[in-house]
Amino acid sequence: MQGKFEYENRATCICGWPLKDAVDEIGKTSAWGTVRFVRCASCQSWCQSPYISPKSLAAWYDSDDYQGSAQICGSVYANYLEDESHRITEARRRYCRDLSGHLPPAGGWVLEIGCATGSLLSVIRDAGHEVAGIDLSRRFADAAKQLHGLEVQVADILSAKIPDGSFDMVLLFGTLSNLSDIPISLQRIYGLLKPGGVLVANYPAADSIVAKLYGERFWMFAPSASTFMTSMGCGLALKQAGFSSVESGLDRQMPSFRKLFTHAKCHALLPVLDAFGLGNKSLPFRLPVPGVRIVRAARG
Ligand SMILES: [Zn+2]
Repeated sequence: MQGKFEYENRATCICGWPLKDAVDEIGKTSAWGTVRFVRCASCQSWCQSPYISPKSLAAWYDSDDYQGSAQICGSVYANYLEDESHRITEARRRYCRDLSGHLPPAGGWVLEIGCATGSLLSVIRDAGHEVAGIDLSRRFADAAKQLHGLEVQVADILSAKIPDGSFDMVLLFGTLSNLSDIPISLQRIYGLLKPGGVLVANYPAADSIVAKLYGERFWMFAPSASTFMTSMGCGLALKQAGFSSVESGLDRQMPSFRKLFTHAKCHALLPVLDAFGLGNKSLPFRLPVPGVRIVRAARG
């Protein structure tokens, strides 16, 4: 059944600048309604304003219009759950490449916000750490339980019941840009970390060359993105939340052919991929993802 977006007012950018001074505007219409992005006059981030309410966004994430299914291609994924075996492979590489060096050898505590089916959390748990996950989607939480035996809390970061000062690491992969109130959420995340704990997140950068090349056609102008951040906007938001040490660089992944084709809006070619057995195969090399940055920020 098709839903309809509900919206909430938004007065400021993630950098704190008032959006009444916005310099540009883009509107995008999807199956559930139109989303409007305005550009901050200070840090140049694109802010969804008004933004879709967290409740409405949760319903969108649970829908076939977003996730896809056997009968329907979602807005981003052909069929999210079908890609799990590849995500596990990618999660193992992510853990070794970006995370293990910033955790104790075993026994660390890791929280993932927006953990979806729990593929990355299951890999971290199997490496000997304690894990916790939250996600807005009941459908993802059920999948995480069924596929990996993980108990995922269905909540947003501001309402989730999680003890402060508990975590060595908090992860947001494909999630930071989607948080409805990034400054307040980052303050909460800062409080959840132990002193010296790290936040690791990735986000598509609005000031990247690829974002400039694609302009309005860039895939971040979508209902799930509350803020299409610039590097400057993200850095300011992290510093204002209290993070003392911030490093960032180009994110590198080995995406599956299915993910590449669906992000490129080439859904019609998916049956050809499957016919050649390539649907869940990944690229044989690590690829810097155009325009996507990874950021690591420490609690002092
Ligand atoms: Zn701004």
